[in-house]
Amino acid sequence: MDHRVLNFSAGPAVLPESVLKKAASEMLDYKGSGMSVMELSHRSTWFQDIMDEAQQLLRDLLSIPDTYSVLFVQGGASTQFYMVPANLMNPSGKMDYVNTGAWSKKAIAEAKMMGDVNVVADSSDKTFSYIPEVDPQKVRKDSSYLHITTNNTIYGTRFDDPPGVEIPLVSDMSSCILSERINVADYALIYAGAQKNIGPSGVTTVIVKKDLIGKNQDIPTMLDYKTHEEAGSMYNTPPTYAIYIMKLVFENLVRMGGVGAMEENNKKKASLVYDAIDSSKLFKAHVENEKDRSLMNIPFFSDSDEINKAFLKEAEEMGMVNLKGHRSVGGMRASIYNAMPLEGCQRLAAFIQDFDNKNS
Ligand SMILES: *Cc1c(COP(=O)(O)O)cnc(C)c1O
Repeated sequence: MDHRVLNFSAGPAVLPESVLKKAASEMLDYKGSGMSVMELSHRSTWFQDIMDEAQQLLRDLLSIPDTYSVLFVQGGASTQFYMVPANLMNPSGKMDYVNTGAWSKKAIAEAKMMGDVNVVADSSDKTFSYIPEVDPQKVRKDSSYLHITTNNTIYGTRFDDPPGVEIPLVSDMSSCILSERINVADYALIYAGAQKNIGPSGVTTVIVKKDLIGKNQDIPTMLDYKTHEEAGSMYNTPPTYAIYIMKLVFENLVRMGGVGAMEENNKKKASLVYDAIDSSKLFKAHVENEKDRSLMNIPFFSDSDEINKAFLKEAEEMGMVNLKGHRSVGGMRASIYNAMPLEGCQRLAAFIQDFDNKNS
């Protein structure tokens, strides 16, 4: 495997090598079934076990209370932008949102098709380079929920604590779930597409308080949380292989010491990269305020397009790929999810320092 690179992609993203090897070893014959997981019926006990174990592992990793359902659905986080308001909007028709950039905006647009949306805080004035203060006074008391994007994948911001509000809190954790400890009970609903921090694309996890399910009528069957809850996430054919890989990732996380150990490691990794950027002459991080800095996605840039281009080219030659920034921010972005080893961040930090010394 000496041709494997350091993959700093924002998603789909790096997976633990041990997980890929395990999947490879089971590719042709899963546990003596004589079939690949891809070929198993989703109604077989082999697959039912994979489903049950995946759900239980996620419950254990995040200490999810019994009052919450864990659902595995399709359609990506983008489908949750619609499913959340469809299922959680209360008779007031009101929903409150924090706008921290592209993903929040998309979520807001879907909710607006359904009801009365109020944006209570917004960081668009500075290219979403900070987390805006949420004034609890501005959150409407009869609103259905407040929606936040805990980690903004594109701009590299992160809520270090969820805003304290009286109404249910909903979070898009697509790019930070399992990267640090959270208290699930702080939220009414958490959703995350898998392809950033928990597996391949194709499966989306939803952790939702049971008493919020089934309140609204006339939701199309596949968009109703109740359908998936009642059917144990097997109303129709689930994305079986994606769920299997996700289960292997969860097992690997348990082996590595769980979410607490991930958090420690992720903090070390992120500070290596931020320190290299902050102490360089050429580069600047998009997010200045330390408290608002993402542990997972680090956008940075120099003022010169030529320098940016040269950096990306040299990085690629050294086996560090997918460092190009999102088109709306430019420059570079290092995504350093759970599966990016500490050593990968050490190599990136050393390269930033080296490049800076040579070119500044
Ligand atoms: C990637 C991403 C999405 C979109 O996810 P899809 O699964 O592609 O729909 C939504 N929110 C955040 C925070 C993301 O990082």
